[in-house]
Amino acid sequence: MRVTVLASGSRGNATLVETGDTSVLIDAGISPRVAKQRYEDTRQRPWPRLDAVVVTHLHDDHIRFARSLAQNNGCPVWIRADATHVLGNTDNITLKTLRAPSRFRIGCFTLFTLPIPHDVPQVALRIHSQRKAVGIATDLGHIPDNLADFLAPCDSLLIEANHDPRLLATSHYPVQVKHRIAGPTGHLCNRQTATLLRELRPAPTDVVLMHLSQTSNRPELAREVIRPSLPRDTRLHIAHQDHPTLLDLSATGQLCIDLAS
Ligand SMILES: [Zn+2]
Ligand SMILES: [Zn+2]
Repeated sequence: MRVTVLASGSRGNATLVETGDTSVLIDAGISPRVAKQRYEDTRQRPWPRLDAVVVTHLHDDHIRFARSLAQNNGCPVWIRADATHVLGNTDNITLKTLRAPSRFRIGCFTLFTLPIPHDVPQVALRIHSQRKAVGIATDLGHIPDNLADFLAPCDSLLIEANHDPRLLATSHYPVQVKHRIAGPTGHLCNRQTATLLRELRPAPTDVVLMHLSQTSNRPELAREVIRPSLPRDTRLHIAHQDHPTLLDLSATGQLCIDLAS
C-alpha cells in the first residue's frame, strides 16, 4: 500500500492511495498537471490510472479539480449528494454517492466513512487493503467521541494539525475568520490533535500531520506539542502544501520519506 500526500493545506489537498491494481485519489485540490508532475517526480514511476476520486467535502481546497481529474482519468467521483452542485457540469463524469457513516469498496480497497464536525458536511476516511489500513481526518473543529474508535485500526494516520491558538489569535485574519477556524466546526489546533493521538493505543506506526496553516502554525511547533503524545517508536511526519510526502506500507514494516528533510 502506497500513500502519497501530493499537497496538504488551505491552498489545495490531494492524497493518492494505491495498492496492487487500485489507485484512489482522496480530495482534488490541485490540478491534474500538478498532481501528475509531483507524483512522477517523487515516485519515479508514471501516474497511475485512477479508479476513483473521493471528495471529503465541498470546500474549494478539496474539490476544485475533482471534475477535471475525473475526466482526465476516466474515473468516477465519490461525493456527498449535497456537494455535487459545486462540481458544475457533470455530464461527462460518473458520480457515486458518498454516505457517512458507510462502508464500500473501490477495487482492492474497502473504505469506511465517519461524519466529522466542520462547517459543511465532512467525513473522516479509513482505507483498508488486505493487510494494512490508513486513516485520513482533516478539516474538523473538534474531536467527536467516536473518532478514536474509528481510527484505532489504522497502521498509518493522516491527521489535521491546523493551527496554534496563539499564532491564530495574532494572525492577520479578520475576527470572524479566527472564530470560525478555532470554533467547534472549524479546524483542529495542535493540542486537540495531541489529545486524540494519546487515545489511540496501540498507536499507529506512522502519523502524518496534515493541513498545517502557513500563517497560524509552524512545523516545529506542531511537532513540539504533538510528539509527546506518541510512543517513541511511532514516526511523526509533516505534510506540505508544495511538495509530496511518501508513505510505503508493507507487510513487514513501513517506510516514510519526508521530502522536506
Ligand atoms: Zn481544507
Ligand atoms: Zn474544509
